[in-house]
Amino acid sequence: MTTFPIITLSAEREKPIRNRHPWVFSGGIKKLDGTPEPGSIVEVRGADGRFLARGYYNAQSQIQARLLSWDEDEQINEAWWRLRLAKAVSARTHFLDRGAPSGVRLINAENDFLPGLIVDKYGDTLVLQALTLGIDQRKHMIAEALAGLVKVKGVYERSDVDVRRLEGLEQTTGVLWGEEPPKHIAITEHGVTLLVDVRTGHKTGTYLDQADNRALVGAWVARTQAKRVLNVFSYTGGFGVHAGKNGAQTVNIDSSAEALDLAEETYRANGLRASGMVEGDAFAFLRAEIEDKSTYDLIVLDPPKFAQNKQHVERAARGYKDINLHALRLVNSGGYLFTYSCSGAVDADLFQKIVFGAIADSGRTGQIVRWLSAGEDHPVALTFPEGAYLKGLVVRVE
Ligand code: SAH
Repeated sequence: MTTFPIITLSAEREKPIRNRHPWVFSGGIKKLDGTPEPGSIVEVRGADGRFLARGYYNAQSQIQARLLSWDEDEQINEAWWRLRLAKAVSARTHFLDRGAPSGVRLINAENDFLPGLIVDKYGDTLVLQALTLGIDQRKHMIAEALAGLVKVKGVYERSDVDVRRLEGLEQTTGVLWGEEPPKHIAITEHGVTLLVDVRTGHKTGTYLDQADNRALVGAWVARTQAKRVLNVFSYTGGFGVHAGKNGAQTVNIDSSAEALDLAEETYRANGLRASGMVEGDAFAFLRAEIEDKSTYDLIVLDPPKFAQNKQHVERAARGYKDINLHALRLVNSGGYLFTYSCSGAVDADLFQKIVFGAIADSGRTGQIVRWLSAGEDHPVALTFPEGAYLKGLVVRVE
């Protein structure tokens, strides 16, 4: 049996690890025996010396070990990684092979028991994000293994994310396996075409976590015969296209000119007129619309992450409240607000309270008719509640 450097936890910090939370914080370590190489496998033991788990190590990070297995007999070797990847992919077979090229999250990091690894599939291109040193070291093997599991032409890396700094890593992008991706990849999302720029787009190219919610807006427009739809923080217009394809007249507002350029192309790719694209600040735009006494039958509010961490929750809450208050004033009586938060630090309960505060101040009446989350290709491991970052409410406004 191979022996590994050993991390012994302090007794009061054992419980989450016993419950299979995957993070060992530096503050929870009582003692380290041996000198683990950065990224190598370490064994984690309880204060009484009993085996708890194995994971990969990074002395530079606050999270010194990310745990991979709680089974003492399981070795973390290349075969182990390949099996874990295959499990995540096979849980998504119903998303694959649909005929039309689609967008799907293949690996959702901690939530697929592969800490630090994000992989999204856009047609025949995979986009990989290595968020940790342990993954960064193994990314070529991972890319090659994934290319053997799903039919793709290339694996492109988008590890240009700030969190890598916390792991002592630089940002990097480029081809990991196979061919360069095309400039734009056209994917089909519930009958709508979305154009994705995997090289320079946000995240791995687009926000796949909202796919089902975008389709829901399309269905809602059809069902309620909504005529005027406002898509705030539109990015490349995804929610707007779903609304437009179902007959609504849409306005998309975003601060990014490049995003709106791609939104225009996306509208045209769907046979829609590329009008109603507004570049600007969402807060200022909504205030101006209130001044102008504009109204809409349905408004989507999908802001960026206002709270980067727990310290920013209060300020973020004010931001969410403001933006929801403004939007609520613009909804026609009997119309709907689709409102989201992707801040992990603002939980679903707090978010609902914030929207409650906004409706109280708006002088309107609101009813929640749906609670929303990311799609099922973005599972949340029950052992990792941090995974439930995206929440949404559908509010009927009078
Ligand atoms: N709804 C989109 C994703 C939105 S992500 C989709 O389904 O694809 C958040 C967007 O907010 C980004 O496109 C970003 O450019 C934009 N943004 C950030 N701050 C903004 C501001 N103050 N005003 C307007 N847009 C902003």
